[in-house]
Amino acid sequence: MIDLRSDTVTRPDDRMREASANAEVGDDVYREDPSVNDLESRAAEILGTEAALFLPTGTMANQVAVRTHTEHGQEVLCERESHVVKWELGGLAQLSGLQVRTIDGGERGIVGAEQVEEGYVAEDLHRPGTGLLCLENTHNSKGGTAIAVENIEAAAETAHALGVPVHLDGARVFNAAVALDVPASRIVEPVDSAMFSLSKGLGAPVGSMLVGSEAFVERARRNRKLFGGGMRQAGVIAAPGLMALSEENRARLAEDHENARRLAAGLDGLGGLSVPKPETNVVLVHTEGTDYTAEEFLAACEPEGVLGVPFDDHLVRFCTHRDVAGDVERAIEAVGSALSS
Ligand SMILES: *Cc1c(COP(=O)(O)O)cnc(C)c1O
Repeated sequence: MIDLRSDTVTRPDDRMREASANAEVGDDVYREDPSVNDLESRAAEILGTEAALFLPTGTMANQVAVRTHTEHGQEVLCERESHVVKWELGGLAQLSGLQVRTIDGGERGIVGAEQVEEGYVAEDLHRPGTGLLCLENTHNSKGGTAIAVENIEAAAETAHALGVPVHLDGARVFNAAVALDVPASRIVEPVDSAMFSLSKGLGAPVGSMLVGSEAFVERARRNRKLFGGGMRQAGVIAAPGLMALSEENRARLAEDHENARRLAAGLDGLGGLSVPKPETNVVLVHTEGTDYTAEEFLAACEPEGVLGVPFDDHLVRFCTHRDVAGDVERAIEAVGSALSS
């Protein structure tokens, strides 16, 4: 099976499993797990922040970050199709009593400075006030778009001028860094906190990191406990996470991008499919030009050995990753057979 549903399906390799087996561990709630401590300092170093926090998932990292920045009842400005709005069960409302105000980031999901100004709400007798701006890079729902540092800077500077802190959902920030050819630290420099996933293209089995200032991370650590994310001998999952962060492994993401481009080029026009050139490892496949809905298209692909996820009625996402690196040509052939059967 060529599993293109997500880069989260990557399995830990033998070296990661070995690192896990040999990891020195302790109770991380007491901050006595040396492997977790190593991972947190390395993550902070790579992202150029004072501190970092290890969490089980990206969703928890986002929710903890948002909670840490805001007060109950405030508004949070988010891109309309962003992960925190679309795929986290309304957690901002459920967990932190926040109201979301959305910004339409257009085709590539870029939040503009004027849009931040427009969306900003000053606190008064009738209005709750804006407590946070959330950005996303790469932007998943827009097809893994890599948002330029200047765009992040413009939005963040505007928010800061209004007294509003900024969180970046950088689940795939290293994909953005590779695509933009800048260090990831440049992408998070303009913001107050950022999340990234170890468990996606980087290939670790579990885990996400939240980075920011010492003071922010200290408060986030309490909120992680509150949300049930205080882990004990977490070194067994932190050790493979540390391997995932190696320079070599981060650079390897370029391969996934190249494979995504090859996949898109091979699929575009096939049986009426329309597949724009991807910016990173996310390939969006439009099925309007075929007889298939997204669900029908995927149902036809599955018996041919290819898996993807539906994103909309006529939109499918394929995601390249290291476990399918040698399968691009076969995937294109399989989709071809699916469309002609
Ligand atoms: C995957 C993802 C998350 C959530 O990460 P999980 O570990 O699956 O909870 C958050 N934001 C974006 C943009 C993502 O792609």
